[in-house]
Amino acid sequence: MTEISYPEISFIRSNIPKISQLSDDIIAMEQSGIYTNYGPINQKFEKRLIEQMFGGIGQCVTVCNATIGLMMALKYVTRHTTPNRTPYIIMPSFTFAAAAHAVLWAGFIPLFCDIDPQDWMASHQAEDELLHRYDGEVAAIFPYATFGNATDITRYTALEKKTGIPAVIDAAASLGAHDAQGQGFGSGSPHAIVCSLHATKTMGIGEGGFIYANNPDMIAALRAMGNFGFGQVRHATMPGLNSKLPEIGALLALSGLDHLDNVVRKKICIEQLYYELLPGFEFQHQRGTRTSYQFLPVRLPASLIPHRSAILERMKNRRIGTATYFSPHLHEQSYFAAHSKAGDLSTTRALSASIVSLPLWHEMTPEMVHYVCQEFLSACAAYGM
Ligand SMILES: *Cc1c(COP(=O)(O)O)cnc(C)c1O
Repeated sequence: MTEISYPEISFIRSNIPKISQLSDDIIAMEQSGIYTNYGPINQKFEKRLIEQMFGGIGQCVTVCNATIGLMMALKYVTRHTTPNRTPYIIMPSFTFAAAAHAVLWAGFIPLFCDIDPQDWMASHQAEDELLHRYDGEVAAIFPYATFGNATDITRYTALEKKTGIPAVIDAAASLGAHDAQGQGFGSGSPHAIVCSLHATKTMGIGEGGFIYANNPDMIAALRAMGNFGFGQVRHATMPGLNSKLPEIGALLALSGLDHLDNVVRKKICIEQLYYELLPGFEFQHQRGTRTSYQFLPVRLPASLIPHRSAILERMKNRRIGTATYFSPHLHEQSYFAAHSKAGDLSTTRALSASIVSLPLWHEMTPEMVHYVCQEFLSACAAYGM
């Protein structure tokens, strides 16, 4: 019998445009002498992003990474409140560490809510319960468009109208995803939509991101906040820091936009193939018409939960990279446990304990997906499935 040797299938393969193929643009940038400060390449990227991904509606500002973008957006929307009087920001615990850090850096305390068992995003009922229990003490609400899923933005608009409590949407992994109407996720949102361009995201450039909103005042303020709070020439009129994306990053981002749609289409084919090859497994329920997964999240059946690390270890031995986003969830991490409050998190705990992330990058061939599924199923079978 001949052994077929498979190449290593890494968990993530980043998809950063080739710098070496952008040499003409780099020479032009050098000749312009402009390397940052929202220069011409940043401006061009922002303009094209709005046209291509948000139907020409709204405004955006580039940032050096999404974590800083989230901090600034939270700081901006809470500008009329003080952490002494309204200390809490409601957010899910089933998310990435960056989100809770952003809340703490903005001066507030994360108040973790549970998630919906189907779409894995913040449960509206859990949010409402915490709003009731902490009445008058909540500065903002901070949902996550989980793994690029389409958060119902209209809910947060209605909530703000009713209670005055603003929302910021962590859409770190959402660029390329479509909402229920088939438009780029976030299109027309009056709330800040914060996206990441980190190397691991669908449109990676290394480090970078942007904040989008259909709200010119907010984006103008965030642009000034990100430039030391200079509302006037070298004169700080608001809280500030430095969140600017260098021109070279914007150049990569412009090039990324050329390929984004193709990359997302390829990923969707791979996603569909996974669903076909893993019948009977539980996946995230999609609220939008298109997602752009960085990896494929799947749940282990209850009987296999105690064997998750053994199953993943077995796959690693077959040279298949996997992960467990988001396990541990935030309230299980020591720093956040010590600096947060939480409501009931039973759905979060159950999902987090059972989650497995399988590789899903645009250059995966159908053969690779077959191989991953075959090894995943045989690892599950080894533990009694
Ligand atoms: C990637 C990610 C971030 C952080 O983005 P950076 O650009 O790396 O700072 C924040 N939240 C979530 C949910 C993410 O997936």
